[in-house]
Amino acid sequence: MQHLAPDYLYTPQGFQANQVVSISDNGYIDAIRERGPESEITTTLPGMALLPGFVNTHSHAFQRALRGRTHHARSARDTFWTWRQAMYDEAQQLTPDSIYQITLQTYREMLTAGYTSVGEFHYVHHQPNGALYEPANRMAEAVIQAGRDAGIRVVLLLTAYARGGFTPSPSALEGQPPSPTQRRFCDASLDAFLARAEELRTSGAALGIAPHSVRAVPEDWLHALAAYSRLHHLPFHIHADEQIAEIEQCQQVHHCTPIELLARYGALDAGTTIIHATHANQSEIALLAQQQARVCVCPTTEGDLGDGIAPYAELLVAHIPLCIGSDSNTRIDPLEELRWAEYSARMRYQRRRILIADEQASPGPLLLSYGTRVGAAALGLTTGSIEPGMAADFVAVDLHAPELQGWTPDDLLDTLCFGASSAVFAQTWVQGKQVWQGSAA
Ligand SMILES: [Zn+2]
Repeated sequence: MQHLAPDYLYTPQGFQANQVVSISDNGYIDAIRERGPESEITTTLPGMALLPGFVNTHSHAFQRALRGRTHHARSARDTFWTWRQAMYDEAQQLTPDSIYQITLQTYREMLTAGYTSVGEFHYVHHQPNGALYEPANRMAEAVIQAGRDAGIRVVLLLTAYARGGFTPSPSALEGQPPSPTQRRFCDASLDAFLARAEELRTSGAALGIAPHSVRAVPEDWLHALAAYSRLHHLPFHIHADEQIAEIEQCQQVHHCTPIELLARYGALDAGTTIIHATHANQSEIALLAQQQARVCVCPTTEGDLGDGIAPYAELLVAHIPLCIGSDSNTRIDPLEELRWAEYSARMRYQRRRILIADEQASPGPLLLSYGTRVGAAALGLTTGSIEPGMAADFVAVDLHAPELQGWTPDDLLDTLCFGASSAVFAQTWVQGKQVWQGSAA
């Protein structure tokens, strides 16, 4: 058992002074109690506040290699789709060794930014020509090993990919074949994909199932993958509604929108996390609410790619829980993701205080829950809140950081969300172990 005594501890009741959090040997929070006379086994953290560790619900770690490198002209009108070609070119280069190296570096950066868990939406599975590695999960194993070596908790969201896009004609049900640069993402059959998933699941890996999008897998895959996830209580994640073109193509072929298609094939329920939902319409939002699904927004990536701004106010009114992801890793900073969720919503609706739990509240507490508890639920993790029974995942805030000067316990969360970056973080703890310490600590 170890005992930590920061100046402030963020519990479900807010920031509390003079508390000690006790951590069992297996890395879970055992108890929180008032600080008494110091015992020699208590570790004091003077000048620090502990927050729950942030949960990065949606990452493609290898895309970190593209940071700063996709802003030159690729065409007369650059969009998500021209960026995607640059990303495919990068994905073509990856080997088991290089995906390990870039993922390790990216995960270490995440720990410095206060993320303690990550959902890795992993789709570069096979050799560039589509041939299997030996063993078939070699790339996934490299990602898992990078997580282990960095010290971050990884949920491997094994991505199913089958085709290049919707079929233009309803008579050709198999859809467009994958392009040469998509071959290494694709499994030859649903059974081949499920065999890989089953091998990872039975090996004890933290696993989720992630059909890439309604573009990339046929409808019978959606149905079967959702059933497999339900059977084994695995998170089910899918990109949807990031781009208008996807919605238009889905409507042409299926006469419904992507989220309606998921509902039609039994792939929308409380285990489902929709990545983006940027252009979700009212009937899709009603379906999400009815099925108790959640949405993961990725504001820095959505801004970088020019995707658009999610319908935050409508999602909030419909009580859809939101979580965050660093997605392309163009930036890795949970405070910046959360700030841009609220700021882009303010710009969309031209008013302030959009993402709030009730009329009187400030955004800080709701934004923090998006960055912690909701993400933990999306990944099926027992973390995201500092209370007994939860994993001891913390980020320590340096209360003397210049950006925070003037803070009070009542507005510290808002000061963090609107006035600071993750540079104010001094330590990161995962499962009761300190895995990173900055120079300020
Ligand atoms: Zn993504």
